[in-house]
Amino acid sequence: MARVFVITGPSGVGKGTLIRGLMERLPDLELSVSATTREPRAGERDGVDYHFLSRDEFDRRVAAGDFVEHADYAGRSYGTLRSELEDRVAAGVPVVLEIEVQGARQVRAAMPEAVQVFIAPPSLPALRTRLVGRGTDDAAEVERRLQVAEQELAAQPEFGHVVVNDRLDDALEQLTTVVSDELD
Ligand code: 5GP
Repeated sequence: MARVFVITGPSGVGKGTLIRGLMERLPDLELSVSATTREPRAGERDGVDYHFLSRDEFDRRVAAGDFVEHADYAGRSYGTLRSELEDRVAAGVPVVLEIEVQGARQVRAAMPEAVQVFIAPPSLPALRTRLVGRGTDDAAEVERRLQVAEQELAAQPEFGHVVVNDRLDDALEQLTTVVSDELD
């Protein structure tokens, strides 16, 4: 039975918002807290939004084999710690991973039974508008993320499920249907 749900897609597409809505609707789901070397944004808390690690600590944990997957994204490292998954998977608790495309590929190789959903924007200009509008990244960072987004969008056909996040309510409905069908 599918117990690991990978939600991927470009930065700014609304993965976080969709996952929050998904978890309200399906409260048995638990979210894997990723590790990153990026600096916390205003309001982000260590251990809640991310495990914020120094570069040395991240590299040490990579060498120790602590990650299920890890990837470099826009100049920083991000990864899923085994400790976020193993106990939950063993206990049959469904876990959601919010990760970028390279990490999703690594999870696909390591756990082919995981369900993977690609969240796509209606268009690249719409993605730019959202990235600028959310105001979390400066102009240079927005451009870095849009460059990566073009490559990520090209990976869309690799994914069994694609949800276009045009209207949030519709996208949430579709995502909830995919996940609840797999849980049943
Ligand atoms: P942000 O800096 O906006 O929080 O995240 C940047 C990108 O890294 C997003 O696409 C996000 O989904 C992705 N990401 C977050 N956590 C992980 C992780 O554990 N592994 C991978 N591969 N990507 C992650």
